[in-house]
Amino acid sequence: MNLFWNRLVCGGVIVGVISILGCSSTSGGSFIDPRISELADGRNVNGNDPACTSRQLVSTGGAFPRDAQTLVVRWTGYANFELVYNGQIILLDAYFDRGEMYPSLGFTAADVRRADVILLGHGHVDHMSDAASVGARTGAVVVGAPVTTGKLATQSLDVKQVRTVTGRGGELLQFKGFTVDPILGRHGEPPHDVVDAFEHALKSTTPPLTPAQAKERDEIRARGTSDKRVVSEGTIAYLITLDNGFRILFRDSGGAITDYEKAAMARVGRVDLGLIAVSAAFLNTLTVQRSLEQMRTYRPDVFMPAHHDGPFNNLWRPTEPLFQAMKEENPKMVTVSRVYREPVCFNTENNIQRSISGASH
Ligand SMILES: [Zn+2]
Repeated sequence: MNLFWNRLVCGGVIVGVISILGCSSTSGGSFIDPRISELADGRNVNGNDPACTSRQLVSTGGAFPRDAQTLVVRWTGYANFELVYNGQIILLDAYFDRGEMYPSLGFTAADVRRADVILLGHGHVDHMSDAASVGARTGAVVVGAPVTTGKLATQSLDVKQVRTVTGRGGELLQFKGFTVDPILGRHGEPPHDVVDAFEHALKSTTPPLTPAQAKERDEIRARGTSDKRVVSEGTIAYLITLDNGFRILFRDSGGAITDYEKAAMARVGRVDLGLIAVSAAFLNTLTVQRSLEQMRTYRPDVFMPAHHDGPFNNLWRPTEPLFQAMKEENPKMVTVSRVYREPVCFNTENNIQRSISGASH
């Protein structure tokens, strides 16, 4: 079906920027998301393209999408995403070998053999611990704030691959088929009284780590930084703009929205896709409030949460209350949450800058 007819079929909930494959990778193809759309010339972005059904990352040897307009997004735990577009592989954050206390992602850092760019949102261990090894193996350009790349400088990675950005403006990075605009954000600062109470409850209901588990944790931790500057100077949001105009906003910590972010969004208006961390504040009243701020700032047509999983004996951050609140205010926004490595395909030919999108906010 063509785009126009597709919009009619989908009525008021159309978001023309995307075509998302439904649950066929896990349900045997019995469900097709009605928003699936075709390219202008009648080709179907998803079709039977294995890149839109396989759970194998392209960076670990999986297939590239057949069509140059297709963007494939895979969430790989915490705030990690793999973006594949027009022959390029972009990794957002790099925290893959998390230790035995965590659910397996289905691959290890050593399996990541191909990547062009790695964008690090900040330098805490759960965002950058595998950046140096993956960067060294793939030759990817690795981008981060000064405190992040300072940590990288202590590890085995060629400095020529590293780009240090402050996010304070004028740092547009050009890559093959896309640009990256670093924007200074702010790390999450969940209230101590709430966090302490929950941490205490978790600790009292969880067996202590064995010496081997503690050793593993410490080895992983050593590959990230706990420098206090991460909060105000080390958390970078990235605005990625594909060459056809499709915009992606990546934000890997649920901190307060900064004036830099407001200024950047005042300039561009909206994004097609937001890949945005859920706040670590535990209580839905607080996490919902932050998600609404994020939605009002970035105005994404499609929202995919990040940083919502956790170790086996911990709490995942619920996403449904966020989705509920956001859609109360903006019923046209699409929320997408998939399991590790499950692909989400977008037809980027439809995007806000081309004004093909049926969505408005
Ligand atoms: Zn952090």
